[in-house]
Amino acid sequence: MTPLRIGIMGGSFDPIHLGHLVAASEVAHRFDLDEVIFSPTGEAYHKPADDRAPAEARYLMTVVATAADPRFRVTRVDIDRSGPTYTVDTLRDLRAEAERERSGRQIEWFFITGADALAEILQWRDAAEIFEHTHLIGVTRPGHELADPGLPHAQVSLLEVPALSISSTDVRARVRSGAPIRYLVPSGVAHLIAKHRLYGARSEYEPHGV
Ligand code: NAP
Repeated sequence: MTPLRIGIMGGSFDPIHLGHLVAASEVAHRFDLDEVIFSPTGEAYHKPADDRAPAEARYLMTVVATAADPRFRVTRVDIDRSGPTYTVDTLRDLRAEAERERSGRQIEWFFITGADALAEILQWRDAAEIFEHTHLIGVTRPGHELADPGLPHAQVSLLEVPALSISSTDVRARVRSGAPIRYLVPSGVAHLIAKHRLYGARSEYEPHGV
């Protein structure tokens, strides 16, 4: 039986936007993945800053955003583990879960995240273990120059995704200033932001604008 090919899409998703979804879909297509598991990071180590959303709200937005795509699912492993999120723990937890649930089926693992975050991977906890078990895919915005800190090229791929010119920072700033976020995030995510008044959304905030 051929091994399953599973991507783990790690990020804070604060909030998840269409760039993340296009990136996951493009990586699934290019790398012939069977499944992409979105893993929102745990609670910021200290209380989240005022312009950040709590972990449960980020998890809920990620579930709503990915619900319609049968290739996508969301895991709580990083949300439910206390302390800062280390990717080596994400990988260990998901490998252990797969061993329990997929009865020994061989799996090839891919970890997908922003190339900015990946550029620092050599300093991440237990980086050698991450490289041993996983192929890393850094997705970049157009025109983004990746500083190459000596990543092992055989285990790291970079992919430019034009839709990633959308950024979570920009979406948060738009909400704060009352600007529309229609077409930048899925409509369910826009409704959750307004309903829970995330990112400083005021009570009269209309995410679709006029
Ligand atoms: P971040 O600093 O919030 O984001 C860095 C950049 O990457 C931003 O431009 C961000 O754009 C983009 N980005 C983040 N996740 C992305 C994704 N899945 N797809 C496309 N672009 C993405 O980084 P973060 O979200 O906290 O961390 C990213 C992942 O790396 C997480 O899974 C985290 O656990 C892991 N990480 C691990 C360690 C460690 O093990 N020591 C250290 C750092 C990060 P947007 O803001 O638009 O998303």
